[in-house]
Amino acid sequence: WKHGGIVGVFGYGGGVIGRYCDQPEMFPAVAHFHTIRINQPSGKYYTTEYLEQLADLCEGRGSGITNMHGSTGDIVFLGSHTPQLEEIFWELTHNINQDLGGSGGNLRTPSACLGMSRCEYACIDTQAICHYMTNEYQDELHRPAFPYKFKFKFDGCPNCCVASIARSDLSFIGTWKDDIRMDQEAVKAYVGGELKSNGGAHAGRDWGPFDIQKEVVDLCPGECMAWDGSKLAIDN
Ligand code: SF4
Ligand code: SF4
Repeated sequence: WKHGGIVGVFGYGGGVIGRYCDQPEMFPAVAHFHTIRINQPSGKYYTTEYLEQLADLCEGRGSGITNMHGSTGDIVFLGSHTPQLEEIFWELTHNINQDLGGSGGNLRTPSACLGMSRCEYACIDTQAICHYMTNEYQDELHRPAFPYKFKFKFDGCPNCCVASIARSDLSFIGTWKDDIRMDQEAVKAYVGGELKSNGGAHAGRDWGPFDIQKEVVDLCPGECMAWDGSKLAIDN
């Protein structure tokens, strides 16, 4: 395989990655096997109808193999010939209301965790920020202006489900701004065993009694927790 080379759609400098077979006479059906990146919806929500449209397009004008999703976050269509690229682009933008993603030295498709739409840990509206930034930086996304790729990613909290720290150049991570809230009654019930660890998910084995000092307080890297036997304190 040869990776790279100039291939794409008119007006855009990214979104398609050229792949060519180095034995095209032997394998004409895969003489070209370009990768197409498509901007995924914020939070990766789909209707079945929309997925069917994508699958039909990939099957009709490409290999039918998709990658849901690439590590950048994009919907990826694997394997299409050069003459199909404009056709796919036209269908995407006119019939499926969708756009290409980024590739090469441009802004890569921004991606976000599903954040406030489903996750109780979200501290910021990742989907809204991702949508806004994608629109704001459209030009940088489609027309490579940088010497190297550049990525934004948006995590709603420090659990980092989209791995914004590891996988982007500019990570946005929601943090809790106020004092940490505690339900002292629930903490007590957890220590006393009335509330089961992990909702009872670990009940299949005897792990011994829960030790809040060893399992929670001593693990705090900031050493800012204290347990006096009945009350948990956190120095905010
Ligand atoms: S990063 Fe945080 S807010 Fe986003 S899905 Fe993961 S746990 Fe939820
Ligand atoms: S520093 Fe300690 S109290 Fe603060 S969030 Fe981390 S573990 Fe919790």
